[in-house]
Amino acid sequence: MNKGFKPSEKNLDEFQRYKYAIDQHSIVAITDKQGRITEVNDKFCQLSQYSREELIGQDHRIINSGHHTKEFFKDLYKTIHSGRVWKGEIKNRAKDGSFYWVATTITPLFNNEGDITSFIAVRTEITENKRIEKALSDSERKLQNANQQFKIATSAANIGIWERDLILNKTYLDKISCSLHGIKNKDSMKLSDKSWYDFIHPEDILRVRKNYEELLRSKNQFEINYRVIRKDQSLKYIKSYGIVERDEKGVALRMIGALIDETKQRQTEKILLEREENYRRENKLLEESQAVAKLGGWELDIETGNLYWTTETYRIHDTSPEEFNPTVDAGVGYFLPESKRIISEALEVAMSEGKGYDLILETYTTKGRKITVRTTCKVTFVDNKPAKLGGIFQDISDQVLKEDELKNAKEKAEENDRLKSAFLANMRHEIRTPLNAVIGFSKQLVNPETTETERKEFGRYVINGANQLLSLIEDITSFSLLETNQVHVNESEVNINQLLRDLEVQFKPEAETRGLNINLANALPDYESVINTDNSKLSRIITNLLSNALKFTHKGEIKFGYTVKETNLIFFVEDTGIGISPENKAKVFDSFQQADGSIRRTYGGTGLGLSICKGLIEVIGGKIWVESTLGKGSTFYFSIPFKQVVQTKELFANEELNSGIPTILIAEDQFINFHYLKVIFQKRFECDILHAANGEEAVKLFKSNPKIDLVLMDISMPIMDGFDAANLINQLNSEVPIIAQTGYDIESNEKYSPDIFSGYISKPIDQEKLFAKISIHVSID
Ligand code: ADP
Repeated sequence: MNKGFKPSEKNLDEFQRYKYAIDQHSIVAITDKQGRITEVNDKFCQLSQYSREELIGQDHRIINSGHHTKEFFKDLYKTIHSGRVWKGEIKNRAKDGSFYWVATTITPLFNNEGDITSFIAVRTEITENKRIEKALSDSERKLQNANQQFKIATSAANIGIWERDLILNKTYLDKISCSLHGIKNKDSMKLSDKSWYDFIHPEDILRVRKNYEELLRSKNQFEINYRVIRKDQSLKYIKSYGIVERDEKGVALRMIGALIDETKQRQTEKILLEREENYRRENKLLEESQAVAKLGGWELDIETGNLYWTTETYRIHDTSPEEFNPTVDAGVGYFLPESKRIISEALEVAMSEGKGYDLILETYTTKGRKITVRTTCKVTFVDNKPAKLGGIFQDISDQVLKEDELKNAKEKAEENDRLKSAFLANMRHEIRTPLNAVIGFSKQLVNPETTETERKEFGRYVINGANQLLSLIEDITSFSLLETNQVHVNESEVNINQLLRDLEVQFKPEAETRGLNINLANALPDYESVINTDNSKLSRIITNLLSNALKFTHKGEIKFGYTVKETNLIFFVEDTGIGISPENKAKVFDSFQQADGSIRRTYGGTGLGLSICKGLIEVIGGKIWVESTLGKGSTFYFSIPFKQVVQTKELFANEELNSGIPTILIAEDQFINFHYLKVIFQKRFECDILHAANGEEAVKLFKSNPKIDLVLMDISMPIMDGFDAANLINQLNSEVPIIAQTGYDIESNEKYSPDIFSGYISKPIDQEKLFAKISIHVSID
């Protein structure tokens, strides 16, 4: 305890010197026993900003800052009044209200009796010290706070902290880092470089090591991801951040870093990725299956009118979202009229009454393709009111087509079944009839009582029956060959004019016995009528058609021939027979089909002829069709490729030039007359015969055949008569003899000139007279 300072007379001087020294350094105030200020030095005045006058007589409350408690001052007064010295730090307030701190020593002063007379307070300003002290304590507190916050943050974020002393080769892991590696805290200190790598996933070790070495060498910061396999074999995804501390020479001293556990994030990412992948896959599969099923969808927001189409719905409409903006009006607009009416009505009912639909309708696509669709609608309600419509939109055209095909196939199978039975029954009849004749009349042939005339007649019946059976067998064979695709084309050069003329000759007798005319009309001259085709098939087809024409015609005529149409020849067989009704027209070309049931009873037949014709024509690359009016007649047409043999003309000429046998041109419009002449010539001597159906043709043929030795010219012919034709031929070559043939008295005709004609022969032609005439000009032996 300090005793108060009591100056005596003798050391008063000394006291004055002390006082001076103290005044220079300290703030000094003297108060009386009551605490009233009796004296202050200049420093006091300066610091408190009060003048001496203002201070003298006041107590210390004038500079009280209010910072200290009552107890603080109580203790102070108690100390000094008990005669002891008080030391402490006081915060005061200056006149302008600013604060200042002072380190204070208050010493009681005593009189000779030892009573306290006054107090002397000596102060030193410590405001700056206080500020520094406060700042220090503030920053320490802040640091502590920050530390605490850091700890909270790292533990909340599950961030591990680690440190590696590169000098001591020691690794320190905090609690979280330990748990990330699945090791106990106490073991972490033992982690050497090697054992730390033991935790890293084998696939990541190399990368981590490379990064670590690079870091030590040149970098100061790093960030790396790797996987840790914990002791319990579980996997952790770690992100490691760190910095390297180096000494002034750049030698790495230690590394400090943070470990972030990204396992959850990675797992979530993985799950999300998987989900996304699954979603993508499912979406793709869905799209693919929708495309296969041609199944689209649609949705309509009733309020906004927004119409949504799925990708497939666009595709079904032959469009895409880039090309087309779907609206209800546009969508409905594509439906065919009847379907449009139905869908408009259904949509209206769906929107107003909330009733869905499931419809099969026909619509056009945006590219005008007609399709059949199934469209359904389900209604979604909001507040009991229809809000959204949606459903499927499926292109079922293929399905409908297949169903139709199946239906047709089924009907056809049933029909075939029926036809087969009918055919078998019919065949029995078709075979039995001629066979009966063959058997019956054969028996009569060997009967000795049969007369010679009868035998001849019966013989004809037998031959007839056998021929019928033969053609039936041929039909059946052809049919089965066609059915099994075993019929092949066998092309050769065929003169179709000749072929048709032969058929005319063949059918003429039967036509005549039945009182029918038969007429042939060939479109091309002979030298242009050579084509490449299958001779036997073509002949068979026309034969079949002519047989039918004869069979189904009772009076009138049968015309046949061909015309040229572009690259095809169109053959026709026209009759004035019973005709075919429109509904039976297509049917007659099917196998075993006849126009109707009565035909079989009246006309017999197997229903195979036309189907064979159709099959053969298709094999040689053509088509068959019929135009017919019931009761008036029919015209069967068929086309074949016109593969003309162009060198025909030259061929004709060359052949004749080389042959050395005479060539005779017969100009005759009546084919039968020409045929007659041809037959008698060729029976008598070897020659080549050319035919012209009129004068013009005769001139043409003459021009193109320099080897013609003789012309037999009919006078009355269409297009150009025999006089004019002979005149022109004579102008071309007056050496070639022209013999006129006529039914009239030619010599009285003014057009007749003996200079042009080498003679004439009257019709009906007498063979011998004819040969006599021509033998003058050509050799007939
Ligand atoms: P078939 O003559 O053996 O009955 P086809 O196949 O030749 O068999 O003819 C089928 C059917 O076509 C005939 O049954 C007949 O009803 C009809 N038809 C064929 N040609 C004629 C024709 N020229 N005039 C009228 N009907 C015909």
